Amino acid sequence: MTIWSGAPDQKAVALTFDDGPSPVYTAQIMALLQKYQAHGTFFVMGRRVEQYPGLVQALFKAGHEVGNHSFSHPRLTKTGQLSREQELERTAVDLDLLGCPQSQRLFRPPYSAFDDRLQAYLAHTHRRLVMWSLDSGDWKGLAAPAIIKNVLSRVRNGSIVIFHDSNEDARADRHPTVEALSIILPALKAAGYRMVTVSELLSRRGSPCHPGKAKD
Ligand SMILES: [Zn+2]
Repeated sequence: MTIWSGAPDQKAVALTFDDGPSPVYTAQIMALLQKYQAHGTFFVMGRRVEQYPGLVQALFKAGHEVGNHSFSHPRLTKTGQLSREQELERTAVDLDLLGCPQSQRLFRPPYSAFDDRLQAYLAHTHRRLVMWSLDSGDWKGLAAPAIIKNVLSRVRNGSIVIFHDSNEDARADRHPTVEALSIILPALKAAGYRMVTVSELLSRRGSPCHPGKAKD
């Protein structure tokens, strides 16, 4: 199943953050999410999960959702089947070992690159391919005002918004993302949007990783 957005009849959006966790930016973003009673979905790289397990545990503890974004961020349409499976499964095991077995069910491909073979593998392993419907553009190195405009001018019910709390080589400056979120989060809240995890957006029963909620 490939997911691009949630239902249009709910005033809710899912904010997603790729390529972390980052020792510099993830905690700053978590603090902002908490300030505005928002939950996010973080598509993490297994390589960084192994480097920063405490950050992943902090995400779980705060009620955020964590999804799989491969181990080392290759373009999976260009890799062989064996390394593709290793990229997914090692990250999934890393997340399992940190106590959230359901997290492996959400997968976002690096560079948004997928093909029929990847879709078939994800279906075979009971995973959901999570894309996005609104690109914040933060990966282009935009300044905060441009990121804010991208999001607030195009947001609608069910939007899945993509941001980045790191990048594939961890050298990106994400201060503009953090600065933009400090404006975007209160604006969305004031407009009446609930800011929920991808799983919550897709199911009224709540996120499988959310503490205290029933697992599906
Ligand atoms: Zn990525």
